[in-house]
Amino acid sequence: MASAEKKVAVLGDIHSNWEALTAVLEDAALQGATDYVCVGDLVGYNANPAECMEKLRALRCTTVRGNHDHYCSNDAPLEDFQPLAASVISWTRRQLSAEETAYLRGLPLSRKCDGFTLVHSTLDTPDKWGYVYDALDADAHFNYQTTAICFYGHTHLPIVFEKQVRVARSSYTRVRLTVGRKYFFNVGSVGQPRDGDPRASYVIYDSKAREVELRRIAYDIRTTQEKIRKAGLPERLALRLEFGK
Ligand code: ZN
Repeated sequence: MASAEKKVAVLGDIHSNWEALTAVLEDAALQGATDYVCVGDLVGYNANPAECMEKLRALRCTTVRGNHDHYCSNDAPLEDFQPLAASVISWTRRQLSAEETAYLRGLPLSRKCDGFTLVHSTLDTPDKWGYVYDALDADAHFNYQTTAICFYGHTHLPIVFEKQVRVARSSYTRVRLTVGRKYFFNVGSVGQPRDGDPRASYVIYDSKAREVELRRIAYDIRTTQEKIRKAGLPERLALRLEFGK
């Protein structure tokens, strides 16, 4: 298939949520996705790290490293993390095989694909895991963005920054891309949405139509919650899923 005719499913912040991931992949297949890419954080928070990794690797999903992927695949102390995140990272470290750990550790911090770039946090300082919430943060990022489009995650909040001369921030569902502008899309989170909508979030980028569409997919939250409780992970991680917070 010519590179101009791709439908790219862009996933991010899956965080070991098997039910959300499989629901999103089912929808992406129905949408005619030809390629799968991921802006990182495959693991952390939920109970199926190995299964989610295996599924994405089987799809040859092009992936970058998120902060959870990073800390789950090394022995660094976790004092910079909130206790909640730290306890799940320790748990996740124990679930992964040596091979899975090496895979996560080997993921690049950013990646240039066919007409777009992937990064977990920001191209400004990708190894510092900075959060891009406002136009000022995005402006620092845009200095390093050489492709028209860049996809990111990390905040779990689907939002787009568009740079013409100034940087504008807006929520989005469908964006028609204008030649000459630069776009920095947060694709939201598959496995732990935080914008008040509990449905899984991901993006379809249609390179032929030059369009980016945000999609929200309902999934079996109950089962994900049961798995979290059964694994002995913090109750708050189960509860937050139903509120999307
Ligand atoms: Zn995340």
